[in-house]
Amino acid sequence: MQVMQIRDAHVLVCGAGGFIGGHLVNVLFAEGAASVRAVDIKPPHEWYQINPAADNQVLDLKLRDACMEAAEGMEGVFQLAADMGGMGFIENNKALCMLSVLINTHMLLAARQAGVRRFFYSSSACVYNGEKQQDYDVVALKEEDAYPAMPEDGYGWEKLFSERMCRHFHEDFGLGTRVARFHNVYGPLGTWMGGREKAPAAISRKVLEAKHSGLHEIEIWGDGHQTRSFMYIDDCTKGVVDIFQSDILEPINLGSSELVTINQLVDIAEDIAGVKLKRNYNLSAPKGVNGRNSDNTLVEKYLGWEPSIRLRDGMAKTMAWIEEEMLAGATSK
Ligand code: NAD
Repeated sequence: MQVMQIRDAHVLVCGAGGFIGGHLVNVLFAEGAASVRAVDIKPPHEWYQINPAADNQVLDLKLRDACMEAAEGMEGVFQLAADMGGMGFIENNKALCMLSVLINTHMLLAARQAGVRRFFYSSSACVYNGEKQQDYDVVALKEEDAYPAMPEDGYGWEKLFSERMCRHFHEDFGLGTRVARFHNVYGPLGTWMGGREKAPAAISRKVLEAKHSGLHEIEIWGDGHQTRSFMYIDDCTKGVVDIFQSDILEPINLGSSELVTINQLVDIAEDIAGVKLKRNYNLSAPKGVNGRNSDNTLVEKYLGWEPSIRLRDGMAKTMAWIEEEMLAGATSK
């Protein structure tokens, strides 16, 4: 098995202008990477973070030539670029989500051609079979539960297909692919408004808006009994680093196993903001599966730890950042 360390390596982060990619660039420098190339399709003023020590480039990675340019001279690739968002976005933009297959296809081809040694791919818990997520009282999802395949329509099918491409690029071409299935990641410096935000950011924003406007009401998508787990960004980037450097050849869960209902998530946000709100449930809004949790048996076995930052602690940091942005009059990125 080939050893691959981040220390002293030249690495590429695709989607570096986004939430997780932006944090990852900083973590890779802290891990001792020799150089970090950071690429995103967005103009620089829309990136959540720009690390001036990185080689920051604006490229459309749906295009094969752009992928070739990005991969040149790189030893490691972190492929996080995707057209994505929370349930409100992915349920209404299935074709756009599936077009991310162009990014994954061209980045894998470019990595192979450039002689990249290791390729990390960010998959999602949306690959899991929907039939196993119908109960609120969910049994945590094990990696094998992705098959027989019945993933989230659009976004989930694209992720599952790209996971398979990673597998076959390894088997047929010897590219060192590693795949993590992220379960709901949240934290500061990510999307919190504009339609692509996910539940923790959306609820944080709504609770803070209610606090500041004095209109003590909140709209909740679904009946509030849906169950989920949420992973704080620092656990996510630690997991990405460890999985990238590991010998784990199969897709592996990277998520928290602290299960809460959406109502409990609202309780936490209200408690942090110091308000109590009247809850209006919108039963026709997109709400995703009824229940989802991450089974962390494999991640504990291989890495000796699991994401464990408490939701209350991560939400306090996230809400503090969103409140600052809100008060500064920030607009959507
Ligand atoms: P994000 O939307 O903040 O970041 C993705 C970035 O990719 C964006 O900045 C976007 O501009 C960029 N991008 C899109 N198309 C591109 C293109 N053609 N060329 C170059 N860049 C392009 O999302 P995120 O939350 O940071 O997620 C990162 C990855 O993790 C994605 O692949 C996502 O599917 C996956 N994931 C995230 C979560 C989560 O909860 N955030 C959960 C599961 C999986």
